[in-house]
Amino acid sequence: MASANTTKALPAAATNGDSVVIVGAGLAGLFTALKLSPHPVVLISPTPLGKGSSSSWAQGGVAAAISEGDTVEAHARDTIRAGAGIVDEGLAHLLAREAPDRIEDLLRLGVPFDKDIEGKLQLSREAAHSARRIARVKGDLAGKAIMAAVMAAVRKTPSIHIVEGMSVHALAMSDARHVAGVHMWPTGSLGRGEAITLRARAVILATGGVGQLFEVTTNPSAAHGEGVAMAARAGAVIADPEFVQFHPTALNIGRDPAPLATEALRGEGAVLVNGKGERYMAAAHEDAELAPRDVVARATFREVQSGRGAFLDCREAIGNRFAEKFPGLSEICFKADIDPVRELIPIAPAAHYHMGGVLTDANGRTTVDGLWACGEVACTGAHGANRLASNSLLETVVFGARIGQDISGLAPHLKASSQELLPPPESTATGLDKGTIENISKQLRRSMTHNAGVVRDSDGLRAALGDIANISPSELPLAMRNRSLTARFIAAGALQREESRGSQFRSDYPESREEWARRSTLNLEDLEAIGENTLNLEHHQGNVIRVAFAQ
Ligand SMILES: Cc1cc2nc3c(=O)[nH]c(=O)nc-3n(C[C@H](O)[C@H](O)[C@H](O)COP(=O)(O)OP(=O)(O)OC[C@H]3O[C@@H](n4cnc5c(N)ncnc54)[C@H](O)[C@@H]3O)c2cc1C
Repeated sequence: MASANTTKALPAAATNGDSVVIVGAGLAGLFTALKLSPHPVVLISPTPLGKGSSSSWAQGGVAAAISEGDTVEAHARDTIRAGAGIVDEGLAHLLAREAPDRIEDLLRLGVPFDKDIEGKLQLSREAAHSARRIARVKGDLAGKAIMAAVMAAVRKTPSIHIVEGMSVHALAMSDARHVAGVHMWPTGSLGRGEAITLRARAVILATGGVGQLFEVTTNPSAAHGEGVAMAARAGAVIADPEFVQFHPTALNIGRDPAPLATEALRGEGAVLVNGKGERYMAAAHEDAELAPRDVVARATFREVQSGRGAFLDCREAIGNRFAEKFPGLSEICFKADIDPVRELIPIAPAAHYHMGGVLTDANGRTTVDGLWACGEVACTGAHGANRLASNSLLETVVFGARIGQDISGLAPHLKASSQELLPPPESTATGLDKGTIENISKQLRRSMTHNAGVVRDSDGLRAALGDIANISPSELPLAMRNRSLTARFIAAGALQREESRGSQFRSDYPESREEWARRSTLNLEDLEAIGENTLNLEHHQGNVIRVAFAQ
């Protein structure tokens, strides 16, 4: 528990437990840190600030009902509809109601949202929104511009101490129910070696999504869903873990993460074909390529799985205008040696957004004392079974502000624990070289994509849980154990929910079922019970659990 090198540059308030520790430096972490000012905050970023967060990559923008004729009620209604019957309606209204004020905040921070000649915000419309309500920056640069403005403000705020190059792999507990700090390690060590422990008055998880648990994803390399696992180990309830949104058209060009091919291409008339040149969407839905995201993702997944492959054909509809209309994608294609004017672009569905996560209330409080969660790692209930486009950046700022207010209000009563903090889980991690660890990670991602991905069924989900059990020897580095634990929540939640709803499609239960029109909640004990009922754990051999499926 040395607090040596990395923390010595931090002022006393950052190391004596007087600070709030924020884990993660995407929009959720940064905005919350600003809202907590002047309360001292330690903000932990695994990478140099601004790198490695989904927030910087957001292309669309932020939703808010501020255009003439639009209403908060209509925004909430669209959110509730997209969430397929299990949205917490109070939370959806709260999200919509507080959106305009948060857009004001971002404008005050200097975010250059697109404006018309009268200086009013120029809002655009996205799928499933009933009005023009997306605040954008220069077309597709919202995330980058928002992050630049917020980072500049964070750097100027003396109460925020930034720790770069460190990753948190365990929460520090003062007793079984109270989070009182974090255990962190240099990024890349995966939790091997001695931990550096920071005490805190409060800890906020802002670790983002889970995309990297799948083979193909649009999420950056830090998006392993570790926050979910850390919170669960601390005793927190995890909600709706099964709901993962897959983007239907990521570029399947061997790049990790996979670049997005925007839906606007299909809006321009580009079609989807398989390797035989057949337009597979025509048979899948009456709206063909313009069918809802989930439908396109499933049809595309089937083509990829069948070995026929899936491709975006822009040749006729866009042709020579490609580079001018889609300069970003054009450059990516060029680098991948694909000429979209003459050739097909290979695509696959990619894990994009996690609706589930650590269960929180309207102030971002989790079910564990001392722990809050914000952004994609949290499950507020506002997204239900599927997220409405551009509501996720919004969620980070709405709940970031609420958490800031909540903790600031509590601050006089929040005392750093003087108790000895419990050590992090043991991680001997002997004998596993880098190659073996990378291999295990690949196996996990492959299994999640094939067994717990776009199309799921009982056999596949049991296979995923079996694979996870097989690759979870206790000697794995802590970071890897966190990844497999979060994967287990996703697969177990999906197995338990015997229906199709929103982003979850079960080929063995293709319809929604009334008895499942509710959110799911799971904690570690529930997960163990699902494991025992599902898998017949035959024997332990060394640390590797061999499993056989119960009949
Ligand atoms: C390509 C793409 C386009 C998108 N477009 C839009 C859009 O237009 N509109 C919209 O609303 N949403 C969009 N989204 C979703 C949205 O960007 C995210 O949901 C949102 O940015 C999440 O913010 P966050 O702060 O919770 O997570 P992130 O921005 O991902 O930040 C997470 C932070 O946690 C850090 N971290 C992770 N693990 C650890 C650890 N163990 N220890 C310490 N730190 C850790 C990461 O390094 C990062 O700093 C898009 C997502 C992607 C991937």
